[in-house]
Amino acid sequence: MFKTLAGFAFAKRSVYGQHSKLMKVSRMPKIAIIGAGLAGLSCAREIALAARPEMDIAVYDKSRGIGGRMATRYAGAYEFDHGAQYFTSGSDRFGAFLAEQTGQGHVLQWPEKIQRIGGASARDAVRYVSAPRMNTLCKAMAEPLETVLNTRISGLERAGDGWHLQDEAGNRMARLIMSSAPCPPRK
Ligand SMILES: Cc1cc2nc3c(=O)[nH]c(=O)nc-3n(C[C@H](O)[C@H](O)[C@H](O)COP(=O)(O)OP(=O)(O)OC[C@H]3O[C@@H](n4cnc5c(N)ncnc54)[C@H](O)[C@@H]3O)c2cc1C
Repeated sequence: MFKTLAGFAFAKRSVYGQHSKLMKVSRMPKIAIIGAGLAGLSCAREIALAARPEMDIAVYDKSRGIGGRMATRYAGAYEFDHGAQYFTSGSDRFGAFLAEQTGQGHVLQWPEKIQRIGGASARDAVRYVSAPRMNTLCKAMAEPLETVLNTRISGLERAGDGWHLQDEAGNRMARLIMSSAPCPPRK
């Protein structure tokens, strides 16, 4: 979808696994997004769709996979969706995005009935799942973006006209930072 936009000049540079060794040479993306879950990728996608070709985005995630809590785990021959079991749409904009992703086969309406036990309530709404796995939607969103996995950003520091992002592999710089990392749990 991004690739069809005139002037869209993001190279696919997704790096799975041992990327940190490969990424030691720092460059300065204009925008660093922390978190490759639905929020971070939605942000990257919106910026990418609105951006000029020279707008350079990198998405960092501490995990080895994309999707955050829209997660799928693998165990031998088995795989499990682990995290969100389905999602709903609360806005026309997200609804339009889901319709587009449904057309591309990344999302399905969830046909199951919600059984209410006792006095439990469940909102009547169209429910969606990413298909065939819960992480498929986020993987598709990340596809045209630069994603740097296994990279936990542990600190941010102002540095000249940019920011210094600290992680175990060394120093990374960015002009702007957007973090979708969840707040630490309250003690
Ligand atoms: C069991 C369960 C059931 C759920 N059920 C539903 C549901 O039915 N319907 C629904 O709408 N939602 C549901 N949710 C919530 C839904 O999964 C989340 O709201 C949504 O996926 C959150 O997306 P996010 O991008 O905000 O955060 P996340 O998916 O958590 O993404 C944040 C990302 O940031 C990364 N990160 C964090 N800290 C750092 C760091 N320091 N450096 C680099 N990367 C970092 C993480 O690895 C993660 O990938 C459920 C969640 C769970 C766990």
